[in-house]
Amino acid sequence: MRRKAKEIQIGNVKIGGNNKIAVQSMLSIPSYDVENSVKQAKELKSAGCDILRVAIPDTDAIRLVPAIKSEVDIALVADIHFNYKLALKAVAAGIDKIRINPGNIGDEDKIKAVAIACKNKNIPIRIGVNSGSVEKHLLQKYGGATPEAMAESALYNARLLEKFDFDDIVISIKSSSVKSTVQAYRLIAEKCRYPLHLGVTEAGTETLGTIKSAIGIGSLLLDGIGDTVRVSLTDSPLKEVTSGINILKSLDMYGPCVKFVSCPTCGRTRINLVKIAKAAEQRLSNCKKNIKIAIMGCVVNGPGEARDADIGITGGNGVGIIFKKGEIIKKVAEDALVDELVKEVELMPD
Ligand code: SF4
Repeated sequence: MRRKAKEIQIGNVKIGGNNKIAVQSMLSIPSYDVENSVKQAKELKSAGCDILRVAIPDTDAIRLVPAIKSEVDIALVADIHFNYKLALKAVAAGIDKIRINPGNIGDEDKIKAVAIACKNKNIPIRIGVNSGSVEKHLLQKYGGATPEAMAESALYNARLLEKFDFDDIVISIKSSSVKSTVQAYRLIAEKCRYPLHLGVTEAGTETLGTIKSAIGIGSLLLDGIGDTVRVSLTDSPLKEVTSGINILKSLDMYGPCVKFVSCPTCGRTRINLVKIAKAAEQRLSNCKKNIKIAIMGCVVNGPGEARDADIGITGGNGVGIIFKKGEIIKKVAEDALVDELVKEVELMPD
């Protein structure tokens, strides 16, 4: 069962409660390059990104907020470290959410100023704890950045805001260790009702980072924990969005979409199944029909193994069969298989 988290509004996106699990990413363009930042924000929105974070390292970067907000309909989050004045400026510039750790911004007056500014405009704050941000007193208490220390750090930071009657809070607790990340989220999930932003930080390059993220984020989602996900990759943020969406699709948590099964190929395969499967997946990645498509290499096991698919391909020698619900509907030359499959999918009801 899904953990019942407080509902939080970030621009036009709601997370927590029964809302869909939002996919997020972060711009990777240098913050002084407004034009290309807006361009990347548009691309990420088209790829399915619901919430977009932008680094605000200095006052100059504040101009990204109106530039992106005026061109792209996306929930925009300002990533701010230490400098509470930048948080106030981002709020004034129209940001939808602030990511800042209250424990890092100095005395109480500064925390209060940020809490009041955000509250006046209904802007939530994400407390983003990671293994490097745990406070000294907690490192001493727990002997390091353990999952317990990270969970307590998140609560400590939340209390600093709650003191000023601010509870429009989202929490993340990320470690580059998958195990520690999962343990920390499990702990915090029991200790508060705030929505949780899931991610494994500094997960690595595309393949390893995707695997680590899928294990960490996936384990938590299967526990019913998590309200928004960010796959962190040393690669294009577009890949982060695709990976986040694919994690949700794999767990039937993405809403209507195409689910693919395809065989690994073997000595019986007589068509270029790898190419066909990749092309079909790519062509139908944005299809919102709730169907299962099987792409199988041969007639020996193909249709049998894919009996529960709504539609599929079974390869022969340079040709393929298209089947629907286990019934053969046509035989097609290898080169035309993907086109025919897409045509048949388009004819299927929504
Ligand atoms: S479906 Fe056919 S080609 Fe694919 S792995 Fe199974 S036996 Fe081999």
